Amino acid sequence: MDGRYDRQIRMPEIGTEGQRKLEQSVVTVIGCGGLGAPVLTYLAQAGVGTVRIADGDTVSISNLNRQFLHWEEDIGKEKVHSAAEKLRRLNPQIRVETFPFYLTEDNADRILSGSDVVVDCVDSLAGRLLVGRQCLARDIPLVEGAVQGFYGYVLDISRKTACLECLGYHLGKSPAPVPALGAAAGVIGSLQAAEALKILLGRRELLLGTMLQYDGLCCEFDKIEIKKDPRCRAHLSCGEE
Ligand SMILES: [Zn+2]
Repeated sequence: MDGRYDRQIRMPEIGTEGQRKLEQSVVTVIGCGGLGAPVLTYLAQAGVGTVRIADGDTVSISNLNRQFLHWEEDIGKEKVHSAAEKLRRLNPQIRVETFPFYLTEDNADRILSGSDVVVDCVDSLAGRLLVGRQCLARDIPLVEGAVQGFYGYVLDISRKTACLECLGYHLGKSPAPVPALGAAAGVIGSLQAAEALKILLGRRELLLGTMLQYDGLCCEFDKIEIKKDPRCRAHLSCGEE
């Protein structure tokens, strides 16, 4: 090793063994916008061996207040390619795979299979629910995150713990486009990256069954315990008890 990861290998929670785990891992990030930018940056910098990016969007001027992997010169480019180019320059030792389309039921296998963790960075509730169902169906741990204005939340989801549909989120609506402060997306995306790395490292202190809510206006964090709904259709559809 060339010293790139020296400061994190010095951490007892990582060490050389943890670093090796990260280098052998595959993380799939759905969406490379405001949340995807910090998530992808920190995963690439930490040395996650394979980072997959899926997003069907192209870069537009209204992305640039928060999506820092895309620059003025990238307007009109496919977001996955704009992001992949920066990540490869940041850390040439990792593999970056791109899927320049939106996740659907039909292409989910191609995008998700073999992932150790999925990080949901889409910007709509409908998109989030789809990612959630596809991860539950494949039993892949999911790091969920969302931001709106100054607010946001983070939640880890598994077959054994509550998902967004357990919480009744499928009954709600999100505004389109969602108003978002870049710095708030940075907070939530950084938390998602930390959760994904902890899952890869086998840590148990996760946001499973606990939602972390962020109020950037009052600068408050709240942890809320959430329960799995035995009637949740997303959980029932994967044949879980
Ligand atoms: Zn559920």
